[in-house]
Amino acid sequence: MEEKIDNRFGEFGGQYVPETLMASLDKLTECFENAKQDPTFYEEFHRLLNDYANRPSLLYYAKRMTEDLGGAKIYLKREDLNHTGAHKINNVIGQVLLARRLGKTRLIAETGAGQHGVATATIAALFGMKCEVFMGKEDTERQKLNVYRMELLGAKVNAVTSGQGLLKDAVNAALQDWAAHPDDTFYVIGSAMGPAPYPAMVHEFQSVISKEAKKQLQEVEGRLPDAVVACVGGGSNAIGSFADFIDDPSVALYGVEAAGEGVGTGHTAATLETGTPGIFHGMKSIFMQNNEGQIAKVYSISAGLDYPGVGPEHAALDASGRAHYVGITDDESVDAFEYIAKEEGIIAAVESCHAVAYVQKLAPTMRKDQIIICTLSGRGDKDVAQVAAYRGVDVHE
Ligand SMILES: *Cc1c(COP(=O)(O)O)cnc(C)c1O
Repeated sequence: MEEKIDNRFGEFGGQYVPETLMASLDKLTECFENAKQDPTFYEEFHRLLNDYANRPSLLYYAKRMTEDLGGAKIYLKREDLNHTGAHKINNVIGQVLLARRLGKTRLIAETGAGQHGVATATIAALFGMKCEVFMGKEDTERQKLNVYRMELLGAKVNAVTSGQGLLKDAVNAALQDWAAHPDDTFYVIGSAMGPAPYPAMVHEFQSVISKEAKKQLQEVEGRLPDAVVACVGGGSNAIGSFADFIDDPSVALYGVEAAGEGVGTGHTAATLETGTPGIFHGMKSIFMQNNEGQIAKVYSISAGLDYPGVGPEHAALDASGRAHYVGITDDESVDAFEYIAKEEGIIAAVESCHAVAYVQKLAPTMRKDQIIICTLSGRGDKDVAQVAAYRGVDVHE
């Protein structure tokens, strides 16, 4: 009998999808497994990452932050310098190369704030492929500029009105579209979530972050970091930042969730701190649910961390204790947004500033000969008006 590939992380993961999607997932799994054995796949992947997306991203020594906080040395992994301004493009390039291997001509994607939709529309344009993005109606109204960007790149944006018209509803709409168009369509999922093999695929494509960082730190410091810190929405930049360090037990791993107004307030997106096991979006993982087992409405100032679940590998890393998950509030992340701008001259995404805020707490508790790598998942230009509004400043005319 054929051995089935293990598609779980501990008790989490799996493939909980309607029968109509099983054949597509099986073909995708086979394609991914073949690509992993094929050097020509990686040659093309790395060529696009380097020549188009501007990799390797810098590992920058944040000297002023280090001196100001008075503890561990802080290095920033600058995913904000990638083309399209975040880590998302790493994963999109990998998945679209698989789509081409499968002979697909149409890409679909879900998007919340629009970052993943823009990255997918970008690579669709690069390869001359059709692209449709599913976005909650409420999000299309809040993120008009990103809707226009995607259209500029040649994509069609579908406003999803079912459910609450939010990110989780956009994922459901994309899964339904995929089930209806299995022959020509590839679903590009934007985080380390969904049914297998997606979480493992996203891990593989985002692991470029930690592979580069490990090598870069080795060159300047000749050793491993003591801690790695990254923000967690669905968990793709975090799993990419952790991946190459998971088997190095001396490296502490910290995933930073959005606590919103505070973990106990009900206005939060801190899934691992407040959630319970469940099955949703094709996977078993930890989700924020109400007493009836319905997916709860989540809240954070950062649209990119506003997901009611977390990828299954993070649920497993939390359960095993290999990684630690902590919450940072809106207030703390906005303070960090201003702090890193003034201290290092970097306007970082408000998502990334959740990680920065945790570094502000962690670094002073560590010795000066210790090292932290903090991933800046994206740039913060998109957040300037919102942060201004948070401070009571209206930058619109
Ligand atoms: C989408 C996004 C995130 C959250 O997604 P993950 O899959 O958890 O990485 C974080 N930062 C930025 C800049 C994003 O665009």
